[in-house]
Amino acid sequence: MHAEPINLLGLDAPALTQLVGQWGGKPFRARQLQRWIHQRGVSQFDEMTDLAREFRSQLSQNCEVCAPPVLTQQRSTDGTRKWLFDVGQGNAIESVFIPEDDRGTLCISSQAGCNVACRFCSTGHQGFNRNLTAAEIIGQLWWARRELMQDATSSRLQPADQSGSADQFAVNHSSDRSAQTDTRVISNVVMMGMGEPLLNYDPVLTAVRMMLDDNAYGLSRRRVTVSTSGVVPMMDRLSQDCPVALAVSLHAPNDALRDELVPLNKKYPLKELLAACERYLAFAPRDFITFEYVMLDGVNDSDQHARELIQIARQVHCKFNLIPFNPFPQSGLKRSSAARVRIFSQQLMDAGIVTTVRKTRGDDIDAACGQLAGEVKDRTRLKEKMAEQKMIAIKEIRA
Ligand code: SAH
Ligand code: SF4
Repeated sequence: MHAEPINLLGLDAPALTQLVGQWGGKPFRARQLQRWIHQRGVSQFDEMTDLAREFRSQLSQNCEVCAPPVLTQQRSTDGTRKWLFDVGQGNAIESVFIPEDDRGTLCISSQAGCNVACRFCSTGHQGFNRNLTAAEIIGQLWWARRELMQDATSSRLQPADQSGSADQFAVNHSSDRSAQTDTRVISNVVMMGMGEPLLNYDPVLTAVRMMLDDNAYGLSRRRVTVSTSGVVPMMDRLSQDCPVALAVSLHAPNDALRDELVPLNKKYPLKELLAACERYLAFAPRDFITFEYVMLDGVNDSDQHARELIQIARQVHCKFNLIPFNPFPQSGLKRSSAARVRIFSQQLMDAGIVTTVRKTRGDDIDAACGQLAGEVKDRTRLKEKMAEQKMIAIKEIRA
């Protein structure tokens, strides 16, 4: 028995093949194992019925399949779901599922906190706590997919009964082929939760490769999006290692303003960032970069800013995604009015730039982008406090 069990959620295909190979297993055993874990959502090795008994017992002795524990989960009236995961030492991260007519998008986190410190971002205001492991990153997808599959099955098979563990479901589900097609509710993954994915490169790369793997989540490169504040050297690495769709958080059309809003701009100014976008496009699965632009009242939303953006758009093939700012008290910033956003987006569209305005979703559960884990640390501390009090109460009862 290893001192610490190996969490198989963090192993991509080559790593799993190597592990299985150490026990004399052929590569197809690793693929079988991947399908049990990621596609059927099974975490108990004794339920993986087509694996040899001896192999299962080796797995049970040395390994685990373990997502971070869920602290809270919430459902919005618009169908948005949010999970808050405990990643230890008072830190928590969030994932949000956003269902739409033609797709289901899961927004996941890559770090607990973030040290880029963008002025308009509540994660940035929290500071940096730690990088997530590959198991913690993929664990968010594994968990959300399992929960959503379970929901789909309970509403179809047992409308009156919402009980039953996910594992029970997974075993039933594995023999239900018709169920398999319509439970693939997560069609897209975006790394737009907490943290800067390109400052936690290796675990993010492992997780992204698992998202694309046909024996795991089988998503196409176009449906996995990494969002970055502009870590130029890592954009180049990603273009070589595993090019997926790229979103770049622009937020300002010139260096003076971007230096203030996204401090990383001082290290990688706009000229370098735009050149990196152009290089990325040579390898990208889509022929455009998505520029994210948070609309901040009186800060970056004037007609002149729009004109400057149009110049930028002439340099890189791009689409714009205008994001209504989600205010939080410490930011001292305000959301641009709906009328201003409309005029701004019209200016861009008149110049031939494809522009969308992000709908705010899950407002009633604080799940909109950029609001992720705003008060997570406090809430986690609260939970710890409650746990402490519970321990004291238990001790008192025992005494
Ligand atoms: N660190 C990466 C990915 C996580 S942030 C990045 O910056 O791209 C995901 C998106 O949410 C970014 O575009 C970010 O600018 C935006 N965002 C952050 N805080 C926000 C807020 N308060 N309101 C609206 N969008 C916000
Ligand atoms: Fe970090 Fe992105 Fe927030 Fe900036 S916007 S602080 S890079 S998470």
